[in-house]
Amino acid sequence: MLICSVNDHGVFQDLALRVRLYPTDDQEAFFGQIAGCTRLVYNTALVQRSFLWRQYQRAEGRSLSWYTQKAELPALKQAAPFLKDVPAHCLQMALFDLNAAFRNFFEGRAAYPKPRRRYEHDSFRFPDRKQVRLDSRRGLLYLPKCGYRKGNNGPIRCRFHRRIKGSLRSVTIVRDGNHWYASILYRVKVEVSEPINDNVLPEEVIGVDCGVAVPFMTSDGEALGYFVDPRPGAGRAKRAKRLQQQLARCRKGSKRRRRARARLAAFKAREKRQRKDMIEQASARVARKGKVVVLEDLRVRSMTASARGTAEDLGRNVAAKAGLNRAILDKGWGMFRVRLGQKLARKGGRLLAVPPGYTSQRCYACGHVAATSRLSQERFECVACGHEAHADYNAALNIRLLGLLRLGLADPNGFSAGTAVTARGAFGVSRAAKRECSLGSGGMPPELASSGCIAV
Ligand SMILES: [Zn+2]
Repeated sequence: MLICSVNDHGVFQDLALRVRLYPTDDQEAFFGQIAGCTRLVYNTALVQRSFLWRQYQRAEGRSLSWYTQKAELPALKQAAPFLKDVPAHCLQMALFDLNAAFRNFFEGRAAYPKPRRRYEHDSFRFPDRKQVRLDSRRGLLYLPKCGYRKGNNGPIRCRFHRRIKGSLRSVTIVRDGNHWYASILYRVKVEVSEPINDNVLPEEVIGVDCGVAVPFMTSDGEALGYFVDPRPGAGRAKRAKRLQQQLARCRKGSKRRRRARARLAAFKAREKRQRKDMIEQASARVARKGKVVVLEDLRVRSMTASARGTAEDLGRNVAAKAGLNRAILDKGWGMFRVRLGQKLARKGGRLLAVPPGYTSQRCYACGHVAATSRLSQERFECVACGHEAHADYNAALNIRLLGLLRLGLADPNGFSAGTAVTARGAFGVSRAAKRECSLGSGGMPPELASSGCIAV
């Protein structure tokens, strides 16, 4: 879910569809031209904002903003007449994006805006839907100067893998690797589902552990996802390094360099697509499983730091590979969470983040917490009761339990004799008592099951 708009006609949601474009050589050259011009405008405006803002304020008596920079576009076009050859809206949107980047920076969400670089940030947007037309039946996209009008480049061939049922908002053209894509933003009306907090059942709550043995383990015991790069530092990294070296050795502006750049871009783009595919499939599968999905509230930044050596979470940072997997997956986790949240929201469900802590060290069967219970990345064997399970599955059950407690579907008093549920919501120290326990898929800890507070 991107943006929601509410008015008299109902509640609307913005959805994005990304389609691959198959431009002709002329169209691709035109795309490159637009991307170059928007980049120039963006970078020039960034320089103005970075170094000339004070002079501007003194001279004009007001601050630089999207509006003031937009008003200077005609003057810039006088100085650089080639800017007149590309659609004016795209140039304005570049300034709009810069403004958004600064807003994100000032409000603490992002780092200071960086200049856009060729091939890396080649994108431009058409915000006016009157200038854009989609023909999904024939697979054609019409843009300004890309249509049937005389002197135009003709419509762009593309492949729609999904029907767009809604009103068009904007179209962004992006270069990713060696391919071009169109991100089509459209608005659909959504049925408002009633808040689920009141009527959610325990079996509709699912816990997911983001692990190192398997990327995502659900509390019903299904391992999802795969490691895109199973041996970090080996094969793929070597190939990337070699491609990078080949590129660095080529003379600037040469054909050889262009080909080397294309090879590297293709290599990187492929990995990105694989990771995205993995995330999309895993998140879709989890979203189908339940209404409320419980995840650990992992702070990705501190996690990667811990993988570098400031060991904070000892139970998990068991091997160098674990740390590396974590570092490499960090982006994947963030994306997984975002996509899962969006997919759940679409069907009226929601994501629940619980504080991390001891979920991988606590025995789900008896509640005993011990770092030594985790034998390896995959194996968990309780030192108190001998309960054996896949380590990530055990963690996923604990995460689900934290979610149930948060939702008020489990009774915190059910944790008797030392299995404290701390104020943070995480598990504290537990009793060391040995006890017999058998555990079915999705089963509850004995103390909870016997207290009768949960109907599972
Ligand atoms: Zn145990």
